[in-house]
Amino acid sequence: MVPASITALITALNQLPGIGPRSAERIALHLVQAESAAVKQLADALLRAREKIRLCANCGALTEKSPCDFCTDPRRDAALVCVVEQPVDILSIEKSGTFRGKYHVLGGKISPLDGVEPDDLRIADLEQRLKREPIKEIIIALGTDVEGDATGFYLGKRFARPGLRITRIAYGLPAGAGLEFADELTLSRALEGRREMN
Ligand SMILES: [Zn+2]
Repeated sequence: MVPASITALITALNQLPGIGPRSAERIALHLVQAESAAVKQLADALLRAREKIRLCANCGALTEKSPCDFCTDPRRDAALVCVVEQPVDILSIEKSGTFRGKYHVLGGKISPLDGVEPDDLRIADLEQRLKREPIKEIIIALGTDVEGDATGFYLGKRFARPGLRITRIAYGLPAGAGLEFADELTLSRALEGRREMN
């Protein structure tokens, strides 16, 4: 009989992304036999990160201070805004090292079947940013699944206005998967090969 506290730990770990039942078991058994100081350090790091990190009120990136470093860095091109689905997509694009503009995180994609409508996403916030920031181009960098396509199409229509380019990164991202699965080279090529939507 496995002690209840170990079962509870395995269950909690198993809910994390990328950790299946076998890994959850291995990590749990490791933790309950590790130095108690090391486990405390891990627990503290988890709590501290969770307490400090929030979403940037302007762009939706994960940050310790709002507005975030992306929004306030004067070396980044304020005319370019790359629209992504989740904060993790920013990390992928940053790793590709080719983008020097700003970001906007939608927080999901339009999916009527799952009850996600445009108003549930940070689309109105992007509209507000257009009024106060010198944005000349919106680069849509969403995944290539059906919802990603529909969301890109919706944004293209909603933001169509004189003086604003709306581009979409070139295809080449894995079908049905988000940006987080694209490697750095694919991503930088997709960004360079972006095309105007119309
Ligand atoms: Zn920001």
